[in-house]
Amino acid sequence: MPAARRIGTLVNTHANGDHCYGNSLVRGAAILASKACAEEMAEVPPAVLAAFVEAAPGLGRAGEFLLRAFGAFEFRGIEPAPPTETFEGELERRVGGKRVRLIEVGPAHTKGDVLVHSLDDRVVFTGDILFIDGTPIMWEGPVAGWIRACERIEAMDVDVVVPGHGPITDRSGARRVREYLVYVRDEARRRFDAGMSAADAARDVALGDFSAWGDAERIVVNVDTLYREFSGSSEEVLATAMKTLIRHVGTRARTAPIQDHLKGRKSEMEFINGLVARKGKETGVPTPYNDAVAELARRIDAGSLRMDPSNFDLLRAMVAAG
Ligand SMILES: [Zn+2]
Repeated sequence: MPAARRIGTLVNTHANGDHCYGNSLVRGAAILASKACAEEMAEVPPAVLAAFVEAAPGLGRAGEFLLRAFGAFEFRGIEPAPPTETFEGELERRVGGKRVRLIEVGPAHTKGDVLVHSLDDRVVFTGDILFIDGTPIMWEGPVAGWIRACERIEAMDVDVVVPGHGPITDRSGARRVREYLVYVRDEARRRFDAGMSAADAARDVALGDFSAWGDAERIVVNVDTLYREFSGSSEEVLATAMKTLIRHVGTRARTAPIQDHLKGRKSEMEFINGLVARKGKETGVPTPYNDAVAELARRIDAGSLRMDPSNFDLLRAMVAAG
């Protein structure tokens, strides 16, 4: 493709590493993303993944899984290349005379999801708003935002729909993802209202036809995210803890304050709440927080952090997500 020899403009549809860690390879290009996406990218730079892989041998079962999921990838030495231009709402550009419209539909899969609609080609690139033949994973929600994003794709005047994962599809692909989200939302809601725990609900929901999609275990994360949403969510569950920790790794964490915090606190929920409270407040030089991760692993191994098999599945699903 001679036309692609020089890429002048790059769009990050969202902040997951499999969609933006290659940015530095097209250095010199304009990199466009939603403002929310750019902020989320800054929270989880490649060095975070590198630190996790490095710490994995000391992390017991969680570490084994980390290595299985990420051991084949080299995260060291990837230079973060943040977006050069951000927007909110919509942005229209011309590429070789063609109109291309960027449409922010997040928060949904992540905080700042964007669709890229090439109007003259009748094509839309959906990022991870669509997983085809694979299970969508709801990192962020709200589910209503994601459902609206699917409806928006379904209403588009397009012939070709390019998903974030899986084969190229058409608008019916958006319908299927919407049906999954609606189904899981309704099933989770019933169980939430009946007082069932998120872990039990995730096990209890029958996936039917959707179980043929890859990574069906992502139901665990999806139900957990929905429960957070239903509860109006100050409820700290393990998923929130792990997500917080993951985000905490690469931002402004300092090891010492975390250790101090751990010394003064008894319960893991207080520990986690402390991390949540600290998020965004700290300043200073980023340091690896392998110590915090290792502490969490120690607690898991010692049984002081309840880590039943479903929680391991949860962790695995979270770490595996693209
Ligand atoms: Zn993604």
